[in-house]
Amino acid sequence: MPRVLVIEDEPDLQELMRFNLVKEGHQVTVAATGSDGLHELRRQPFDLVLLDLMLPDRDGLEVCRIMRADESLSAVPIIMVTAKSEESDVVLGLGLGADDYVTKPFRVKELMARIRVRLARHLDESRDAERRRIVVDKLVIDPVRHRVMSGEEAVPLTLTEFKLLHFLACHPGVAYGRYDLLDRIGDGESVVTDRTIDVHVRNLRAKMGDYGRLVETVRGVGYRFSELA
Ligand code: CA
Repeated sequence: MPRVLVIEDEPDLQELMRFNLVKEGHQVTVAATGSDGLHELRRQPFDLVLLDLMLPDRDGLEVCRIMRADESLSAVPIIMVTAKSEESDVVLGLGLGADDYVTKPFRVKELMARIRVRLARHLDESRDAERRRIVVDKLVIDPVRHRVMSGEEAVPLTLTEFKLLHFLACHPGVAYGRYDLLDRIGDGESVVTDRTIDVHVRNLRAKMGDYGRLVETVRGVGYRFSELA
């Protein structure tokens, strides 16, 4: 289920967007200010951001600039939502790395079509990225062979441990909650609880030796792969 963050301060528009996005099967979070939006972005992963430019605190352009300068957020597609009078801001926004824009008042069908295009492209790119080997120092995570090497030594992981490590390593610095992780790695068969993830992480760290420290605990959230890697 794609996750969309709507950063918009007008309640009517928030509702219109939420309603239509949910109808398309997206998971929607709404933030009414730029700061709240950035807070949400750092708290959980998103596949797309709808960004209003005129916000009560920091403006959308600043949010765009901050996102693009942040390694863990730089790949998240941004569609700006602007008033016609903000046309010069659109040029600035696209220059700052926003992917697309719509002007208010927009047709819902058009907005949804643009979202669909951006999401499809983003999910394709994520999939490509997920097929690439990840190398951290002497640790190599190979998603094609489902194998992890620590120098010359193979690290004997279970499939679940491998999926967990690979998923986290694909998104360094991003913290994921236990239920999020269960969603991503669950096989849909075994009975699991959120504590299951803790057990997998403990086993994973033990097997990875020194590299176990790369899987970090984020208090109150869950786990992340070290950003320093
Ligand atoms: Ca606004």
